[in-house]
Amino acid sequence: MATKQASAQRRVAVIGAGMAGASASVALHDAGFAVTLFEKSRGASGRMSTRRNDKWQADHGAQYFTAKSPAFQAEVQAWCNKGWAAAWEGRIAKLDLTKATPPGEEGKAAQALRFEPTPPTPRFVGSPRMTSIVAAMVAPLHVTTQTTITGAQRVEGQWRLASKEHGELPQAFDALIWAIPRPQLEPFEGLFPNSWQQTLNSINFAPCWAVMAGFDRPLDLPFDGLFVGRPDDPQPEASPLSWVARTLSKPGRTGQETWTLHASYSFTQQHLNDTPEAMAERLSSGFHVCLVRPAPNGPLPTDGSMPLLNLRSRWQPTTCGMSQVNWVSVATG
Ligand SMILES: Cc1cc2nc3c(=O)[nH]c(=O)nc-3n(C[C@H](O)[C@H](O)[C@H](O)COP(=O)(O)OP(=O)(O)OC[C@H]3O[C@@H](n4cnc5c(N)ncnc54)[C@H](O)[C@@H]3O)c2cc1C
Repeated sequence: MATKQASAQRRVAVIGAGMAGASASVALHDAGFAVTLFEKSRGASGRMSTRRNDKWQADHGAQYFTAKSPAFQAEVQAWCNKGWAAAWEGRIAKLDLTKATPPGEEGKAAQALRFEPTPPTPRFVGSPRMTSIVAAMVAPLHVTTQTTITGAQRVEGQWRLASKEHGELPQAFDALIWAIPRPQLEPFEGLFPNSWQQTLNSINFAPCWAVMAGFDRPLDLPFDGLFVGRPDDPQPEASPLSWVARTLSKPGRTGQETWTLHASYSFTQQHLNDTPEAMAERLSSGFHVCLVRPAPNGPLPTDGSMPLLNLRSRWQPTTCGMSQVNWVSVATG
């Protein structure tokens, strides 16, 4: 209580309403700080993102998460109890392309497809969509959306901010937290102490093309999530994909059949500057190969039910990991 009173007058600006910014904001709010969260997009959640309209939806950034530490397990349990998250019990398999069969010998495809007997750690997702967790976390807070912070200045012991949309902001803050992707920190780097440099330099980025592919009917496939190839695949061009997942297998999802297709790191690196249209074509073709190879009763689908809609984005992100505040990324496409 004493801490809460002592901090009651302290105003903190948090820049970025992804999971990191939301977590920091909630903790500070609970400790009695006056928190204002700034977000450049229309809503909170960052890379835990979902695209949707009245017909379809797809998580196109983070796909699922696990909870290993007791503290995070307790947090995730609380999210589940509140209906913000749920366990995803999708059928997950791995497709080893080095063992995949050539066209015409699909009967042997089982050699290439390996199912997880039991997930080593339960997988969770936001419910009814990936954005739900962060959206619920920040609901009681003061969130200023569609405000891209472009400048920060220390004036008479307080922080003053400027944004692209509104120019100089009227509020002053006692402290600032940046919870944004590393490349977007660049305009602010002159404000950081030298001791932060080593940490900043150690942040690696792994870009990822993502395609959301819609189908006119459910695909009769034996998996809901598929890891494709291997992370160290010596022949990454064997498939452009690293992961595919069926939206409707996740709890709470409704609407048209959609699959999220993530390109592999090496493929994305090689095609960073290609057009979204070209990438949609390549990833969709890669998915078609996955459909054909592991089908237990022969090639699927043969009825031309390839994607009806191809909504794509190029992510410029990180290795996955929700708990790392500094492992940051953003959609640039
Ligand atoms: C394709 C992809 C797949 C992934 N898959 C998984 C997965 O399966 N499991 C997993 O655990 N993790 C996964 N991740 C990683 C996970 O999504 C991220 O680690 C996590 O969401 C990062 O959260 P964050 O709050 O650090 O950053 P972000 O979610 O990027 O949030 C930063 C926020 O800051 C905002 N912002 C940026 N600059 C400004 C500014 N100047 N002013 C105001 N607002 C600004 C952005 O709009 C954004 O909302 C994946 C990421 C990607 C891209």
